[in-house]
Amino acid sequence: MPVRDLLVVLGDQLDARSAVRDGADPALDVVWMAEAAGETDHVPSHKARTALFLSAMRHHAADLRAQGWRVDYQRLDDPGALPTLGAALVAAVARLRPRRVVMVEAGEWRVAQDIRAAVGDTPLEIRTDRHFLVTLAEFDGWIADYKQPRMEWFYRWMRQRTGVLMDDDGPVGGQWNFDAENRAGFGKAGPGPVPAARRFAPDAITREVLDLVATRFPDHPGSLDRFDWPVTTAEAQAALDDFIQHRLADFGQWQDARWDAEPLLWHSRISAALNLKLLDPRQVLAAAEAAYHDGRAPLNAVEGFIRQILGWREWVRGIYWRHMPEYRERNALGADQPLPGFYWTGDAPMACLARAVQDTLATGYAHHIQRLMVTGLYALLLGVRPREVHAWYLGIYVDAVEWVELPNTLGMALYADGGVMASKPYAASGAYHARMGDSCARCRFDPQQAEGDRACPYTTLYWDFLARHADRLRRNPRMANQVRNLDRIPADRLARIRARAAAIIANGGLPP
Ligand SMILES: Cc1cc2nc3c(=O)[nH]c(=O)nc-3n(C[C@H](O)[C@H](O)[C@H](O)COP(=O)(O)OP(=O)(O)OC[C@H]3O[C@@H](n4cnc5c(N)ncnc54)[C@H](O)[C@@H]3O)c2cc1C
Ligand code: SF4
Repeated sequence: MPVRDLLVVLGDQLDARSAVRDGADPALDVVWMAEAAGETDHVPSHKARTALFLSAMRHHAADLRAQGWRVDYQRLDDPGALPTLGAALVAAVARLRPRRVVMVEAGEWRVAQDIRAAVGDTPLEIRTDRHFLVTLAEFDGWIADYKQPRMEWFYRWMRQRTGVLMDDDGPVGGQWNFDAENRAGFGKAGPGPVPAARRFAPDAITREVLDLVATRFPDHPGSLDRFDWPVTTAEAQAALDDFIQHRLADFGQWQDARWDAEPLLWHSRISAALNLKLLDPRQVLAAAEAAYHDGRAPLNAVEGFIRQILGWREWVRGIYWRHMPEYRERNALGADQPLPGFYWTGDAPMACLARAVQDTLATGYAHHIQRLMVTGLYALLLGVRPREVHAWYLGIYVDAVEWVELPNTLGMALYADGGVMASKPYAASGAYHARMGDSCARCRFDPQQAEGDRACPYTTLYWDFLARHADRLRRNPRMANQVRNLDRIPADRLARIRARAAAIIANGGLPP
């Protein structure tokens, strides 16, 4: 039967209400989906990340078929499966000869280019992605009014335009931001009992995918042993419900803390479901807001959580598309070191870093503070090339899609974009870790020491980082205190610290 429209659905476009099917007719149009090895090879991807995408795609295709859609689907293990999305789409267009190709905005600049090239002369219609609460055009319109745009202003604007957590005359509770209440550490007593997150046992489709990934990508990083991610919209909803019921109330105050034995703490673990579009952010915001109004969660927790979804998530997407493709080339601090090998193994004597990488390899997940202040901070202080850090984050987390991963890595963790994402580098020493987590108690290094055999590498590299970039950082008022403290260090002591930092850098990131 001739095909009218070919409806392209990518692995991160699995929303039930996708604009791609607006006006479409199952009798005339065909949904096209493809599993392509190139998508898991172009950066070495965690096995769980690959499995999650494939399983969610197969479930989505099954749902569409059950609704009567014709789905043209390339499986990775089909005989003659083509290696890239582009090649698979060229072949599909040649075979089905659609009148036009329709898709929703892609989540990665490279994929958008590949698809444009693949459709050739066939007309291509790209629709606005209504998963997000602000369109790219609206974001560009907002940002054009600011000389130094900041997430905080954007977030307030989003609160006003959506009405989320708003009263008639301003923000609920009279304040936009409760961050000051959301920075507690646990102290020696630790977090106490933490409610376990809901797990989703692999069904037959997921088990088949797990076998396929294990056989096809044995050398890829990470483990499949603990795979328990939601792969359908129903499971994603159950994961959200579980978070709202059991963890949201304490999300706020412990948002910035770490505890080695509790790799999730009160975080939601819904990023992958959101990024695959199994969850709609409106649904998430409404559930959190309702929990506040019903008295099930305090305002500092609900506001802190809503800020992540309505603020940060929408902000990073706007930044990504506004600045790509030149954004991924940025290296404002001239970082030139290779990514240390222990990022792929977790085999490092630094207890905090080893823990964060090992958790990541085990599940494909680490919470924000592990990503930003443990693995990200070490790469910042060491001066690792942004492209290599980016490839690691893009491959290693189950929720990684470039529009969200790249600004977080280049901008927030590495300050490689020169201040577009964040107003200052998130530079900190081992003393920060000692305050906010418990790894230091089990580490052979001392977070307070910057020189000598027991010096914490974070602390040594922190002072070296400040000294290396002092001229630039002096011009940033938000770094004034940190630079003043650097200036107080006697020259001979600073020289010894910097000599040790040079030895760590020369030794591939490991203390000599
Ligand atoms: C270097 C680095 C790389 C990152 N890479 C990714 C990535 O590839 N994919 C991804 O979804 N997030 C990424 N983040 C943001 C954040 O760390 C994750 O969204 C979060 O850890 C996911 O866990 P959670 O669902 O338990 O989040 P929670 O802490 O429960 O937060 C709730 C939700 O808010 C959103 N959110 C929170 N922080 C951010 C942020 N900074 N940017 C965008 N959305 C945010 C997420 O959708 C998250 O699910 C990265 C952060 C850093 C510092
Ligand atoms: S002493 Fe330093 S390296 Fe060791 S756990 Fe603490 S911060 Fe990490």
